[in-house]
Amino acid sequence: MLNFEFKNPTKILFGKGEIAKIEKEIPEGAKILMIYGGGSIKNNGVYDQVRKALADFEFYEFGGVPANPEYEVLINALTFIKEKNINYLLAVGGGSVIDGTKFLSAAAQYEGEPWEILKKPVRTFEGQGMPFGTILTLPATGSEMNSGYVISRRETNEKLSSGGPGLFPQFSVLDPEVVRSIPKNQIANGITDAYTHVLEQYMTAPSSADLQERIAESILISLQQTAPKVMEEDFDYDAAGNFMWCCTMALNGLIQKGVITDWAVHAMGHELTAYYGIDHARTLAIIAPSHYRYNFETKKEKLAQYAERVWNITEGSVEEKAEAGIRKMEDFFHSLHIQTRLSDYVEDYQNTAERVKKAFTERNWLGLGEYKALSPEDAYQIVEMSY
Ligand code: NAP
Ligand code: FE
Repeated sequence: MLNFEFKNPTKILFGKGEIAKIEKEIPEGAKILMIYGGGSIKNNGVYDQVRKALADFEFYEFGGVPANPEYEVLINALTFIKEKNINYLLAVGGGSVIDGTKFLSAAAQYEGEPWEILKKPVRTFEGQGMPFGTILTLPATGSEMNSGYVISRRETNEKLSSGGPGLFPQFSVLDPEVVRSIPKNQIANGITDAYTHVLEQYMTAPSSADLQERIAESILISLQQTAPKVMEEDFDYDAAGNFMWCCTMALNGLIQKGVITDWAVHAMGHELTAYYGIDHARTLAIIAPSHYRYNFETKKEKLAQYAERVWNITEGSVEEKAEAGIRKMEDFFHSLHIQTRLSDYVEDYQNTAERVKKAFTERNWLGLGEYKALSPEDAYQIVEMSY
């Protein structure tokens, strides 16, 4: 097992009715800016619960953060934060709203041009961000219990990630009741994103980190078992709760400790969202199978372990089991009505691999993936395989 440090300071408030408790989590006298998205929270009662819980605070709001949060929109929130001397942020939404809030948390404490935080030489924010909490309304990203975020810039077709130890939420409320109002396509996205988060930290060379591997496999199996229940029309509170906690556990740092991680699927997937606006999770389902087939030699042992332990495939050689595992993964995405080919989403896709290769080369991203061995040319090959 590799050496590691582990500290996750986010307090979780899990369960029905927990939103009412946030008053106790925010310091007295805080000047709060609540950040939210396109308005789902006004239709499902979450907005009213938050207003009620924070009735005694000086409270402002900034709505309209789009999916794949945009720099151009967030800059308006930053101006507001500075004008009103806001000192506490509250994200109420899915990964996009939470990620946007993390960026604002960093940008509010940063002296230079805010975009620098996402570009070299900064990229990792070393300081302490403005304190913030979150109320999660869409299980998917794990952003509610980690310190990373992803921001898009429309004018340059870029989607870049950053983060830092001072950007964990102070608290996050996970009330499974919010799952009631989520459209099924977004639930499918959430399952797929969380599932791929586990794969990015698991599907590497064999490791000696037995516990992390077993936890990762348990999250995959739990997501598989929960998926049909949360995709059903009738709301099932316990299924919603399991789904929610799986998504959080998939990316709160625990399973990546002491192991080598990959994250190349996300790097390539972000490009597809930046070019075509494809939902984040769907870009991962497009890239992941090709990534595992392209890197078959280095990943086949873990792929075979995945097939055996997660899908009970016991027959065949290592190679046969590994390929069967990839097929099971594709079938699972298809069972959620998630398509796994770029051509399922975009008609004019022929130059995508070339664009990705060029973007990675220009950014000097010369070594991605588990061994930092994937060159822009390898990314070209993988993206082309996913057409
Ligand atoms: P999202 O973009 O936050 O939300 C997608 C849609 O779901 C929005 O239209 C939103 O509507 C709606 N929605 C949210 N909660 C709802 C509810 N309870 N009822 C009805 N509709 C609801 O989706 P996401 O998948 O959570 O976030 C995706 C972003 O996170 C991407 O930019 C991705 O790159 C990033 N990401 C971050 C991390 C990380 O660790 N930080 C990891 C993976 C991905 P409203 O806008 O109206 O609320
Ligand atoms: Fe993701």
